[in-house]
Amino acid sequence: MGFTTKALHAKPTNKDTYGAMRFPIYQSSAFEFEKAEDLEAVFKGQKMGHVYTRSSNPSIEEFELKVKTISGAFGVIATATGMAAISNALFALVKSGDNIITTSFLFGNTLSLFQTLFSDFDVEVRYVDVNDLEAIKKNIDARTRLLFCESVSNPQLIVPDFLAIKSVLKEYNIPLIVDTTMTPWNIFDARKNGVDVEIISATKYLSGGGHVLGGLIVDNGTFNWKNHANLEPFFKKFGPFAFMARLRKETFRNLGATLTAQSAYLLSLGLETLDLRVQRSCSNALAVAKHLQERSEVISVDYPLLEGSRAYANASKQFSGGGAIVTFSLANKEKAYTFLNNLSIIKRGTNIQDNKSLAIAPYHTIYAEYSDEQKASYELNEGMIRLSVGIEDLEDLIADIDKALEISAS
Ligand SMILES: *Cc1c(COP(=O)(O)O)cnc(C)c1O
Repeated sequence: MGFTTKALHAKPTNKDTYGAMRFPIYQSSAFEFEKAEDLEAVFKGQKMGHVYTRSSNPSIEEFELKVKTISGAFGVIATATGMAAISNALFALVKSGDNIITTSFLFGNTLSLFQTLFSDFDVEVRYVDVNDLEAIKKNIDARTRLLFCESVSNPQLIVPDFLAIKSVLKEYNIPLIVDTTMTPWNIFDARKNGVDVEIISATKYLSGGGHVLGGLIVDNGTFNWKNHANLEPFFKKFGPFAFMARLRKETFRNLGATLTAQSAYLLSLGLETLDLRVQRSCSNALAVAKHLQERSEVISVDYPLLEGSRAYANASKQFSGGGAIVTFSLANKEKAYTFLNNLSIIKRGTNIQDNKSLAIAPYHTIYAEYSDEQKASYELNEGMIRLSVGIEDLEDLIADIDKALEISAS
């Protein structure tokens, strides 16, 4: 079955009692049991069942199983937000005195998590250029517990070579954890490309309408958790499920960042049209990037699948779509703001991968708390615009962009 057929027809759980075509929202905190013995058996893990929604709930499970079916993953846990997925997954794999390897080209809040909480808990964060394999090797030691990066960084649009990174990590038994929010399964087969654990902000492409927050931790089943120092007791008890088991029984359950049943329902709905929306947004984005290249007002344009872009080689061999984000620069802040303020269809806002196109000047907003030197090191500039291209009709987007560019140039 193809991606969308699976998303529509794969039946991951039992049929609904009333045969509802759409799995219901089980809006209940707890679940009752006929017999005390049954409740005990579920608590002991001898029987499947839901007891309390913070740990599990039928609607959330339906969403997780749908993701598992579509992605072919080994294990899936849904969380309240993308940040919850990142923090839960990473805190399940590190402890005080450990270190992780990453890059400084990260989603703003991920970077902030690394710069604050991780150091508070004495986990050292080593920043490298993830396309520099020698630098990765040099930073690995006996306490290195994982390498974390993003499938496409934004707004810089850097794309790592995952199989190359994996080949280094393999020698040292270190898992490759990648935030693949920018490139869902239909345009990037992360598992085949060496990614052991995928972390996704479901708030973005999966939701599509920009209406709910959600996150996913996806274990691709490719890393042997036997070789992970912090999962030893869990491997002894749960074998290959060690990572999922630690999350379910400790990190996730105790931190309590549970997705709501209502959000799970909406995200399941989003999965059904994911491929249609992502294909449309990617083809719009590539066309917009090519169009911007032709405009004299535009100083530089970047898009992973734009020929000549820095990411092109890695993106074209790993992805079948370049994602929603196009980054381009106008001469200065004034021109960028005149452009932004004269957009009619494209909205000014900070989200990405919404059905609607959104634009923002990251230098002055997302990175407002950073110094000019730091912003320069993150490759940001004052006239930079991050455009998240939606699923509108292409001609309307181009007309909106052209009108705003002309006014900014005058
Ligand atoms: C939005 C985003 C996140 C955080 O997700 P939330 O659902 O907002 O918590 C993490 N990583 C990337 C790449 C994102 O775009």
